[in-house]
Amino acid sequence: MDSLHQDGPALTPAATEPSRMMDVVRDLYPICRSITGEGLRATLRYIADRVPMEIVEVPSGTPIFDWTVPDEWTLREAYIADMAGNRLVDVRRHSLHILQYSVPVDRVVPRAELAKHVHTLPDQPDLIPYRTAYFARTWGFCLSHRQWESMRDAEYRVVVDSDIAPGAVSYGELLVRGRSEAEYLISAHSCHPSLANDNLSSAAVGIELARHLLDLAEAGLLNRSYRFLFAPGMIGALTWLARNESHLGRVRGGLTLSCLGDAGPHHFKRTKAGGSTVDKAVAIAFRDAGAPVTMLPFTPFGYDERQYNSPGINLPVGCLMRSPNGTFAEYHTSADNPDFLSEAALQGSLDRLKEIVAILDADARYVRTDGRGEPQLGRRGLYRQISGQAAGGGSLQDSMMWVLNLADGDHSLIDMAERSGKPFAELLRAATLAREADLIRAAADA
Ligand code: ZN
Repeated sequence: MDSLHQDGPALTPAATEPSRMMDVVRDLYPICRSITGEGLRATLRYIADRVPMEIVEVPSGTPIFDWTVPDEWTLREAYIADMAGNRLVDVRRHSLHILQYSVPVDRVVPRAELAKHVHTLPDQPDLIPYRTAYFARTWGFCLSHRQWESMRDAEYRVVVDSDIAPGAVSYGELLVRGRSEAEYLISAHSCHPSLANDNLSSAAVGIELARHLLDLAEAGLLNRSYRFLFAPGMIGALTWLARNESHLGRVRGGLTLSCLGDAGPHHFKRTKAGGSTVDKAVAIAFRDAGAPVTMLPFTPFGYDERQYNSPGINLPVGCLMRSPNGTFAEYHTSADNPDFLSEAALQGSLDRLKEIVAILDADARYVRTDGRGEPQLGRRGLYRQISGQAAGGGSLQDSMMWVLNLADGDHSLIDMAERSGKPFAELLRAATLAREADLIRAAADA
């Protein structure tokens, strides 16, 4: 792993493929996804074309803790037409137009009745809202308030050609295997229809992070394993947890990813425990990169971190975001579209994630070979090596002193980085030199 850190966390943005992640966002944006169904499958297949991900199908009715896998929603067509047959609202034009899990209907309805099935945002009159009704057995349309205000006919024809029937819930799973079976989970909800930041940004960043880790694994440079889940919110995570309960002992923690492509600064919602290895690695990665991050306390709302942190599961999983869900005006509206995102913002999120994972992957505890006093660095050629560096030589020497003092089997490199304020990469470099000089050896896997 040294190669990741040799020159510090200078993982510069890749200038060679400037629009790769935005291409993913744009490709996936039009698809009408939901928590089940063909839109979700098409999305997972798209991701599986880019990384060797398995797509898992779990039949409707399968018990999942206190839930069961729901019936599958298939939508073929949905529109509101005037009596002349002009389609005024059509899901083919925007996938947000349909209330998710709408039941079939084909009727002429008076405007007053249609009004009960129409969802708008009077405060944001040009935007289409995102609405779901997974278990309500109703139908509905979402449209801009301005459009609805313009629809003044006495009656309209409404058509929803759909069914809700036994099928399956689908999720994608990719395990990137490192040397150790200990693994970290990286999970992104993949069920929203045409919404870009929430959460196609995470599909785009997740694909690139997975590719990066696959490359490292292939080069033999990955210590731990990383499991990627692209799954419908809540039911996907619950389904994976229920099917993998016996395996959860290997999971050290993880991150849910959401809203990674807007212009806002990063936020990290801590794990429920707080102070876990993941919480520390995130803080150190941002500190060392000189990048701002706001640490948010854990709340049992938001994304699947609340499933992972539930009392019977207890995995320390936090959530990395730029602007947090619910805090930006575009959230859950048609304004959360690809224009709201930028390649640079996605790249910044990817860079931080690579650094976080590099820290998680290189973290280790050491013990001194002979811990009595301070070893003679000069005799081992180390003094010259660490003080002779043109830039930051003194700093590396300080980091060496920290490593030699905290190599007590209790402090991991992450703990040392936290306690010393020294960059993680520099402590890792010092630890590598000390190990090569036989001054320290690895304790049990951190
Ligand atoms: Zn959402």
